Amino acid sequence: MRVAVFNSKSYEREVFAGSNSEYGHELEFIEAHLTEITAPLASGYPAICAFVNDTLDAAVLEMLYRNGTRLIALRSAGFNHIDLHAAESLGLTVVRVPAYSPYAVAEHTVGLMLTLNRKLHRAHQRVREGNFSLNGLMGFDFNGRVAGIIGTGKIGTIVARILSGFGLQVLATDSVPNKACADLGVEYVSLPDLLQRSDILTLHCPLTPETHHLIDSAAITQMKAGVMLINTSRGGLIDTAAVIDGLKSQKIGYLGLDVYEEEGDLFFEDLSDVIIQDDVFTRLLTFPNVFITAHQAFFTREAVTNIVDTTLENITEFESGRLCKNRVTTELVSR
Ligand code: NAD
Repeated sequence: MRVAVFNSKSYEREVFAGSNSEYGHELEFIEAHLTEITAPLASGYPAICAFVNDTLDAAVLEMLYRNGTRLIALRSAGFNHIDLHAAESLGLTVVRVPAYSPYAVAEHTVGLMLTLNRKLHRAHQRVREGNFSLNGLMGFDFNGRVAGIIGTGKIGTIVARILSGFGLQVLATDSVPNKACADLGVEYVSLPDLLQRSDILTLHCPLTPETHHLIDSAAITQMKAGVMLINTSRGGLIDTAAVIDGLKSQKIGYLGLDVYEEEGDLFFEDLSDVIIQDDVFTRLLTFPNVFITAHQAFFTREAVTNIVDTTLENITEFESGRLCKNRVTTELVSR
């Protein structure tokens, strides 16, 4: 099938090229993000492939449909960036990669926690400059502390397992409690209880209208003073302005982010020569107790290979008229 692969980076192209010999799709790699301006590049392609920071709103979907596209293959698990109602009313099929490596995201999450606690980012800079002082670098033992996990699906459950290994007491909240997690000894509690009792809070639920700004000023008020907050899920789960207030008042003692509400204009690009216009993001960068990575939690060899293989398989399923097991529908959102 002819596929326009938007927003494609060199590291993905290599993997696509390797795996596609088995599938034989005709892949056109387009470096640009998918937007209203670039959508015409997909003219005549029955399938397009998009990533998390591509625009898939009603206007773009209509344009793609008019130009002959019938399949939207997402190279992501999350699908909050696509207007599924518009896709469905147009008759576009949307597929995704539901799981590629939950270990990659879970391990990165714990990496952020360790970095912030033991201030490894600051220690690294100091040692390189010949400053071997320990002032300001004191951390705390994870052993015996309380971690709170919001969302215990594939990633949250692995985070729970790793944190249990550190000797942390693990609490969780989820609308659908997970037996695998409960079997680890995780205690399911209400969200307010979790916020009040946790020394470390980590977000692993999807971004939906219900979870948008789940962490707002009211939630922050309920947290322990000096709490560590980690978000490797989706930026919109956090009201960034409220979190900045929390950092300034020192209610939030540590903040680790791999995602940011307005990351679409920043992440995955080299902007080192550009004046960043986002004052909220640049304010975050000024705090010594904030550590940010640019949506790289998924980025392991295993995960990228799985993303590519599942995407090619999804396209083959659609082309052969089989029911796509990884299809995304509005029904999935309301579940
Ligand atoms: P999953 O579907 O396996 O688990 C999500 C869990 O969240 C489910 O158990 C669900 O019941 C729960 N949930 C839904 N609404 C909730 C709410 N209001 N409160 C508490 N729990 C709620 O998903 P997953 O594979 O574990 O991924 C989790 C999220 O991680 C994805 O939605 C995606 O946004 C994010 N993600 C980020 C990266 C990255 O690179 N940073 C990579 C992959 C996924």
